[in-house]
Amino acid sequence: MHSCLFCQIVAEEIPSYRIAETERAIALMDIFPATPGHALVIPRRHSADALEAAAEDLTACMTLAASVGRAAVAGLGADGVTFQTLARSAAGQTIFHVHIHVIPRQDGDQFAFPWPSVPGDVTEIEAQAERLRGAFTNDDF
Ligand SMILES: [Zn+2]
Repeated sequence: MHSCLFCQIVAEEIPSYRIAETERAIALMDIFPATPGHALVIPRRHSADALEAAAEDLTACMTLAASVGRAAVAGLGADGVTFQTLARSAAGQTIFHVHIHVIPRQDGDQFAFPWPSVPGDVTEIEAQAERLRGAFTNDDF
């Protein structure tokens, strides 16, 4: 018995509404949908979040998420799709098995971006870019 909810779903120890599967990833319906058709894509192998997941699992998940997004456009008439993943509780993550939300969107729907569209300070943007460039490790590329 796994303690992780999504590992239990992978193991079919608890039911889910699966919509597609690959060797490395599973797509299922989110039972707390932000919009109709909201799905999740999870890797079969456990990792807490996208910061810790193996590259091949992230690749498999995003590839399947794109397929689910295309299905939302073709099958649900979505005008667009929001792909979203949260890493760690500070970002709002509540289930600590990496997952990508695939949220079908309609023109003019009420799904809101969590930040205002306001230009940033260019000096601050340059400073943050330099800090990020200096923080990569040999494992990143
Ligand atoms: Zn898990």
